[in-house]
Amino acid sequence: MPKVWNWQLGREMEYPYEEGFPEWQFAFVFNINRCIACQTCTMACKSTWTFSKGQEHMWWNNVESKPYGGYPQGWDVKLLSLLRKANPDGQRWNGTADPKRSPYGSFKGRTIFEAAGRAPGGTDGQRVLGYLPTDQEWSAPNIHEETAAGEVMAPGDYSGSAQLPEHKVWFFYMQRICNHCTYPGCLGACPRKAIYKRPNDGVVLIDQQRCRGYRKCVEGCPYKKSMYRPTTRVSEKCVACYPRLEGKDQELSPDNEPLETRCMTACVGKIRMQGLVHLEQDGSWTPSPDSPLYYMVRERKVALPLYPQFGTSPNGFYIPPRWVPRDYLGQMFGPGVEHALEQYCCPDRELLAVMQLFRAQQQILFRWEIEKGPKVAEIEVTMPDGSHKVQEIWNDTVIGYNRSGKAVVKTTVEEPTFVRPDEHLNSI
Ligand code: SF4
Ligand code: SF4
Repeated sequence: MPKVWNWQLGREMEYPYEEGFPEWQFAFVFNINRCIACQTCTMACKSTWTFSKGQEHMWWNNVESKPYGGYPQGWDVKLLSLLRKANPDGQRWNGTADPKRSPYGSFKGRTIFEAAGRAPGGTDGQRVLGYLPTDQEWSAPNIHEETAAGEVMAPGDYSGSAQLPEHKVWFFYMQRICNHCTYPGCLGACPRKAIYKRPNDGVVLIDQQRCRGYRKCVEGCPYKKSMYRPTTRVSEKCVACYPRLEGKDQELSPDNEPLETRCMTACVGKIRMQGLVHLEQDGSWTPSPDSPLYYMVRERKVALPLYPQFGTSPNGFYIPPRWVPRDYLGQMFGPGVEHALEQYCCPDRELLAVMQLFRAQQQILFRWEIEKGPKVAEIEVTMPDGSHKVQEIWNDTVIGYNRSGKAVVKTTVEEPTFVRPDEHLNSI
């Protein structure tokens, strides 16, 4: 197999095809800490793309409760078990981090591409390690919702659940869409070459004419985000709302400015931010700290890839939940967890300002800047290691710009409070 560079693993890895990169890459950051599991994102996607016959069990966006929930059921645990069998030496990270080439150090285990054919039960011709979920596993998208894990406490003892940074009892909501991976497992596994990555924005699509419904993409996507439709007998997946991405929604974007996807713009909890990341010819991210996505993922490393060890280089990044045991998070997001949580638990002036841009508008933001305001508070914060820090809060104004450089959002760190006058108490 050809060798490609995977910055998330900090090393070269095997992939079925030579590397080739789009000019811009669809990417997003989800802040797990803020999600309330209202499923508005799920329904925004469903009512736009998957409301027809044969798509009943198809949820391109889903929100599951970890650690027990999963759509399809057990998707990550099953693949991790397969990987463990194919990795007799374990999955280890070490090596020195280099901010540009390998920000999380270097991964020493085998990816789903390198482990293919080596796991017990795998076949010689298998290009991507994976499995095909059963119909039953697809049938209950929100199974185990809010089922908690952790210590069993004496009746009436709730002390464990009131302590930060780690509750003794815990669960969290995991928001999932297709990651439009740099090295997609679905694409690598397709024997028909029916899956492709768009050269302008890196969106991964399935050519419905070429697909013959072999379901190798369903098997090969480690995140299980390619799905089979029995009525048409071909596979379908998230299309990143590409008409919006292209600025073709005339009503919302008369100037053809790129818009965020339906699931992003509908988010009630303001947990989602989508962007387009500019890539160099070698696939590295063009340094641009004034892009909100670049700033959070590469500059501050507050948002991390989901299961980077799978090797697909996903373009979705998560701010991990503060209250969850660190070894669980380490398995899920790699070695950057402690650093990310340290940043998030006591954000400095700039990070706090950038985080105000989540869900502040519908257009994709390409640049941000701050107008400095006065200091309004100092609060004591408990850090993940139990130490204390003083967080300064500055009422800065943060401005977000669209692709054409037009300011499309301007908001302050402190939200203004408006008091309804007595004479209008019960009127609009
Ligand atoms: S998440 Fe799955 S379906 Fe989406 S691009 Fe990656 S491998 Fe393909
Ligand atoms: S809309 Fe936002 S807050 Fe609601 S479930 Fe989806 S990601 Fe979570």
